[in-house]
Amino acid sequence: MSEFRRDPLKGTWVITENQRVRQPREFFIDRERVAMKVCPFCPGQEYKTPQEVFALRPDNTAANSPGWQVRVVPNKFPVLRIEGELNKQTAGLNQSMRGIGAHEVIIETADHQRSLAQLDISETTSVMQAYRARLLDLRQDSRFRYLQIFKNHGVEAGAPLPHSHSQLMAVPITPPVIRNELISCREHFHNTGNCLICDLLAQEIADG
Ligand SMILES: [Zn+2]
Ligand SMILES: [Zn+2]
Repeated sequence: MSEFRRDPLKGTWVITENQRVRQPREFFIDRERVAMKVCPFCPGQEYKTPQEVFALRPDNTAANSPGWQVRVVPNKFPVLRIEGELNKQTAGLNQSMRGIGAHEVIIETADHQRSLAQLDISETTSVMQAYRARLLDLRQDSRFRYLQIFKNHGVEAGAPLPHSHSQLMAVPITPPVIRNELISCREHFHNTGNCLICDLLAQEIADG
């Protein structure tokens, strides 16, 4: 099982893998292991992924069967495991905790050929609904401090499969960049009583 270890000098956490050395590309989906003739994200291939955790599909279709518009499944080759306690440990200056987290794949369309940019408004809305549903669900898990959705577009950019998808990670630490953003928001609130994000948005709109 992987582990989070804190770098006491930088004050940052890194993920380490105990069992074997992973290639950087394996951090998301192992390209060789999924290099197959039939795309596992296409309808009819649902059994090739872990069981879905969310799907937008008609009521008369069964989970893990075709008919879905958007489908969310755990990553088949996760770096982080969803089960277990964090088990935070301190040894001198070193802190560590188990590699607990969520790592999911949002399959944005049943159509193997189309990219997110080629979806129509209602299809794009469905993708956003799936994002929202997964974020609302995972934020109830008190082990997690940060949820992130990201997307690698195109195999060249590191997307392991051409079928349009995004990924979600939930981690038990707050990344330093996000921590700084939160500090700025808190300072602004103390000084003005306003939400910094709302004020930034209002200024952008006012500036045209
Ligand atoms: Zn496909
Ligand atoms: Zn706000």
